[in-house]
Amino acid sequence: MTRVAAVSYRIRPSNPGAHIFEVHCTIADPDPAGQRISLPAWIPGSYMIRDFARHIVRISGRARGAPVTLEKTDSATWLCAPCDGPLDVSYEVYAWDLSVRAAHLDTTHAYFNGTSVFLRVHGREHEPCVVDLERPPAGIGETWRVATALTRLQAAPHGFGTYSARDYDELVDHPVEIGDFTLAEFEACGIAHEVAISGRHGTDTGRLCQDLRRVCEHHIRFFGEPAPMDRYLFLIMAVGDGYGGLEHRASTSLLCQRDTLPRPGESEMSDEYRGFLGLASHEYFHSWNVKRIKPQAFSPYDFNRAAHTRMLWAFEGITSYYDDLALVRSGLITPQAYLQLLGETATRVWRGRGRFKQSLAESSFDAWTKFYRQDENAPNSIVSYYTKGAVVALALDLTIRRASGGTRSLDDVMRALWRRYGQPGIGVPEDGVECIAAEVAGVDLGAFFDQLVRGTEDPALAELLTYVGVDFTLRAAESGSDKGGRPARNGEGGNRPRAVLGAHLVAGSEVRLSQVLDGGPAQAAGLAAGDLIIAVDGLRVSATNLEKALNAHAPGKCVHMHVFRRDELMEFDLTPVAAPADTCVLVLKEGVDAATLAQRELWLAGAAATAYPASAS
Ligand code: ZN
Repeated sequence: MTRVAAVSYRIRPSNPGAHIFEVHCTIADPDPAGQRISLPAWIPGSYMIRDFARHIVRISGRARGAPVTLEKTDSATWLCAPCDGPLDVSYEVYAWDLSVRAAHLDTTHAYFNGTSVFLRVHGREHEPCVVDLERPPAGIGETWRVATALTRLQAAPHGFGTYSARDYDELVDHPVEIGDFTLAEFEACGIAHEVAISGRHGTDTGRLCQDLRRVCEHHIRFFGEPAPMDRYLFLIMAVGDGYGGLEHRASTSLLCQRDTLPRPGESEMSDEYRGFLGLASHEYFHSWNVKRIKPQAFSPYDFNRAAHTRMLWAFEGITSYYDDLALVRSGLITPQAYLQLLGETATRVWRGRGRFKQSLAESSFDAWTKFYRQDENAPNSIVSYYTKGAVVALALDLTIRRASGGTRSLDDVMRALWRRYGQPGIGVPEDGVECIAAEVAGVDLGAFFDQLVRGTEDPALAELLTYVGVDFTLRAAESGSDKGGRPARNGEGGNRPRAVLGAHLVAGSEVRLSQVLDGGPAQAAGLAAGDLIIAVDGLRVSATNLEKALNAHAPGKCVHMHVFRRDELMEFDLTPVAAPADTCVLVLKEGVDAATLAQRELWLAGAAATAYPASAS
């Protein structure tokens, strides 16, 4: 069968040792005025300009047996000289980025996102295209298979061959893994799901599939059957050290430490595995919230420049709220375990001083230059639209529940967004989430959004959580590694308050400051990020005994420090303070009345999509 597509690609892991993919892009009928081609500057889901074209190491064009001149017009774009088609552009891409965002190739596997390897043919973005996935050179990868959610056109299941996509957007939204991965499968609400695990690992795939199925079924039923995808793929790369996830319309790429995955014979829910399931849940929820319910600014994606929206908090924060909530709703974790996770998220918010300077709307808009390009001043200057977004999503959920007497919730907002924008494929306007939330709540939410989204106030969680019978309190951190979420281990008031420096340290045995916190003792003393503290009161300190040295005196008493800044030895007088109450604790309140208990159960159990009348959307 021969099919002439407007644009066709061939990609081959041609030199795994040198991490080089060889790619051909054939344009059947190039623009007679000269065809423009470019590689995206960013990948949707990761809001940072990455200039993927910098990894193209060689590029040339040919048409009808003759060379075609390619003139570079900006850092990502080439203009091909006018020619009669077909025009074949061949190029090599260097792939050595082991993350979920780019491409990676060696003699053990090949992985790529389309945004790293497939040139966009300007003017032809909306036409169907085909891609031939070719084998590596003889002697390498004889047993390799293919895992991708791209549609197979002429290829055996998991085989090399020809795949297709309806348009360029779809082509670059299906990452591809090629290698000796472990393959497992399960069904969720009648949809076939595959799990492909690469890297060395010893995973109990049966348990993993069982747990993922519960998460997937939760999300599908949450938005309402049928699911918008006809198949789904979890691409998991297990490594010694690494973490990441990126959402796609019918798949996700996850990077995790291999020991976060469950091993055969284990049955307990470790913190690490719970974290992995939360990540998988997060990316799967994105199949609706951001891949289909998407801001107008992403409809369509402008691959050449940053696409700004003030709503990333709604796409990332609300998704972060539901990722763990789905774990308790599907019975994978207990309500108390869920509250601990929520408390840890709130703790991360309450510990950042930047939340008084940057609003969620601003954090969303400036994600490209601030959240994704954090420096040592980040805790003082920015707020995370993930963590504060999740906490504000909780506050919005509780506000709607209270305003509607428990008959409506954020769940209904998400379903209404799905019906009004996601299903018909319409971009959400910048005020779309607020309007639908107010409609669902039946009350004006202007003040809520002014204070918590456009302003920098903290949500009144202590008050809001009483509606579902949960106690929210703040306490001081017990140690540098205290993530919060749980009550103090030492009990109340038994110990003298801990003295702190007001700085974060670089991990390791020496005491090097990574971040100096606004208004803290270190900043007041004149210490700076990068400083190496070598002695406190004339005695050498290390990361292990710093705490002891600071606590030798009551908070408020000055200590003398010897510090290297660059290679210059300096001395500072610093007055440690008592650790602030910035650690959030959430616990189920005992002995609540029946009405509160019913609201708590409604919140933690959720309900399938039918509760909100379809007529309202
Ligand atoms: Zn996300």
